[in-house]
Amino acid sequence: MSKILHIKTFGCQMNERDSEIMGQLLARSGYVYSDAPEDADLILINTCSIRDKAEQKVYSLLGQLRDLKEKKNTLRIGVCGCVAQQEGVKIIERMPHVDLVVGTQQFYQLPALLARLEGGELHQAIELDLAGDFTIPSYREVMQDNLPHLAKSTLAPVQSFVTIMQGCNNFCSYCVVPYTRGREISRPFADILDEVHQLVAQGVREITLLGQNVNSYGKSNAVAPQSLAFPDLLRAVAKTPGLVRLRFTTSHPKDLTPTLMRCFAELEQLCPHFHLPVQSGSNKVLARMHRGYSAEEYLDKVAELRRIRPDIALATDFIVGFPGESEQDFADTMQLLHRVRFHSSFSFKYSDRPQARATNFTDKVSEEIKSERLARLQGLQNEISLEWNKSSLGKKVEVMVEHNTTPKTPGETPRGRGRSAANQVVHFLLQPGQTMPAPGKLIQVLINHAGPHSLRGTLLDSCNTPSSSIHG
Ligand code: SF4
Repeated sequence: MSKILHIKTFGCQMNERDSEIMGQLLARSGYVYSDAPEDADLILINTCSIRDKAEQKVYSLLGQLRDLKEKKNTLRIGVCGCVAQQEGVKIIERMPHVDLVVGTQQFYQLPALLARLEGGELHQAIELDLAGDFTIPSYREVMQDNLPHLAKSTLAPVQSFVTIMQGCNNFCSYCVVPYTRGREISRPFADILDEVHQLVAQGVREITLLGQNVNSYGKSNAVAPQSLAFPDLLRAVAKTPGLVRLRFTTSHPKDLTPTLMRCFAELEQLCPHFHLPVQSGSNKVLARMHRGYSAEEYLDKVAELRRIRPDIALATDFIVGFPGESEQDFADTMQLLHRVRFHSSFSFKYSDRPQARATNFTDKVSEEIKSERLARLQGLQNEISLEWNKSSLGKKVEVMVEHNTTPKTPGETPRGRGRSAANQVVHFLLQPGQTMPAPGKLIQVLINHAGPHSLRGTLLDSCNTPSSSIHG
């Protein structure tokens, strides 16, 4: 009889992709996925420690799961990802009902570890080695052997993430990633292309290449057959027959080269949407963050990107209230936001992270000031995002369908949701006589409403859109 698996994922897209792979590896061992933790035989929590209170959230969830385990003593509970890597054995000491603690580079061992638990060889399993990277034979054996099964995304049938590297060498002073995900390591070129080809053969139309700093792909370890860089990988992936859209995230501004920028003009599949985290507009703060660029250098790269691809939609990340951030430093950040006019941004209050250098900085900014600055920054961003989206009013926008809903009540207008090449969420209504386009189809939507976070419009034509054209 099959066993039931439930995975709770926190954090970033890399964690989402890791969770998918865990689910697919375990499906090969007879596990069937369920959204209901109360039905599960195995619950995995895939954790993220980038933001404040990550550990508390994990411990609180584990506390709630204790009741479930008391009712069903065959239930197994595992903690994976960054908090597992960071806390290690402390998790089992605090929460003895946890069966498994698996670090960021060891999740491929889950089937083997579970088999050893089932066989009674282990009572509890902890696997935290940070050398289980893409290039070691045991990793490649498990991942490549299972590739046809791993490739298919369970989250969205037409879009998928593909991890191209892990870890980071940058040691930004606020960040825990180099400690929890290890040093930067690039995945072999051929393995990435294999995975992309498998995904597209299974119907995926949009691929997002993932890494903590994709711009430095290939720098830390040679990626056979020769030293290849990220633009080479983009070009090779873009050649995949049947791939309609290509995106990537995340990019470090200091490693953004003219060659990579030119890819936005050269590769038809590469969407005009770029996430380029700036974090602050103050040179003093950027230096203390150890970011390796100035505000002026960042602005120069933005200007060059816009020269190469005038319709590019830029997104970014901001941290407000970094230690020592003065009112003038924050004004510099607001000024940079005014000048660049990002289409969207993720913004957070600074918080201490274990092991990160800035945790020891003594000139912390009060919570009250951080909250007030964050509200000002988000208020301005909302105004700019709304202005950006309003520029689509009355225009035709090309959208890839992601989701459609069947009306629950008779007479209700069928509606669907998709995404523009610039990564705007677009809700659309059908007109009388139209049929709902399937996920993955490119359609034209006439925009008649714009909010700060999404667009709305009516479907114009789902049949006559050339599938190779993505830049509407
Ligand atoms: S580039 Fe900086 S912020 Fe990004 S993962 Fe590396 S250390 Fe963290």
